[in-house]
Amino acid sequence: MSLDPRVLDAPWQPANGVFESVAIYLGNSLDFYERATWNYMISTIDALIDKDFYYVNFWSQSDIAVESVFLGWDGTLGHADNFDYDITNGLFDVDINTPAVEAFANYYGYNYYDYYLRVAAHEFGHTLGLKHPFNEGIGAFDNSITASQSIMAYGDEDAAFTNFDLAALILVNGIEDDKNSFGNSPIFRFYNSKANGHFFTSNAAEAEYVAINYFDTFTFEGAAMYASATAKAGLTPLYRFYNSTNGGHFYTANAAEKAMVEKNYGGAFIYEGISFYVSLVDNGPQEEVYRFYNTTTNGHFYTADEAERNYVMNNYNGAFLYEGIAYYT
Ligand SMILES: [Zn+2]
Repeated sequence: MSLDPRVLDAPWQPANGVFESVAIYLGNSLDFYERATWNYMISTIDALIDKDFYYVNFWSQSDIAVESVFLGWDGTLGHADNFDYDITNGLFDVDINTPAVEAFANYYGYNYYDYYLRVAAHEFGHTLGLKHPFNEGIGAFDNSITASQSIMAYGDEDAAFTNFDLAALILVNGIEDDKNSFGNSPIFRFYNSKANGHFFTSNAAEAEYVAINYFDTFTFEGAAMYASATAKAGLTPLYRFYNSTNGGHFYTANAAEKAMVEKNYGGAFIYEGISFYVSLVDNGPQEEVYRFYNTTTNGHFYTADEAERNYVMNNYNGAFLYEGIAYYT
């Protein structure tokens, strides 16, 4: 793995899998928006890394317990105390020094809850295995990783987990690879900022590799849809090509189109194999996958999310031309 090791330490690395399921206790000291901040962070991260979070009503049942407290005026905004590796007790007590967070937010002119999110994400990062890039076990005091690169650095630039942090979280915890209720595999989606397009793969190992090693270019967006990773009756292979001109990918479920691309564009488009399997007809309970043509890049954008489809139609209708249902999964 080529990930910069400075941001990493892994006190909670799930070598035996025992920590895959994580009990969260949000204490009564949290106000409505502090609680909503944690709910948002947890559901976001739950969709991306291979841990499954659930909520419990008692501290004694928790792996991570969160409280709003007063810890004094020495500059401490919060801490995550890993006082006990016994899974049957609280593993991490996360205390956020809310009076100090409020004072800092006021002083620097931030909204209190925006600043709270920053502090909470930092402490949540600790509970998921991340350490500061500048202290123990990682060499000398190292400030080369700044707050704009990692929530685990000290500073005011970052608001939440960066791609770099996400790479570290995936390295430590694995990528979320849960199947859906039909037994279909997640189709992982990345935004490729160089090609200005999206990359899809059903291969969890490949997705993990890209998330960890190419986080500068590829932003991991989680499961875009669920589809069969293996051949089944009634399904058609979706073929994947690498576009060597712009670094993007081209997908088609049309065997004739695949043959045409290989014959006529074999220099620019390199065939990479079957990506996953789709249905060209609507057989009932499957998801529709919608396709747009991107007039800027000449690429295609796919989404199974109706809300996202509508958002793109309403906000990008100059650049993205809606082409209808591409296939079903
Ligand atoms: Zn810290």
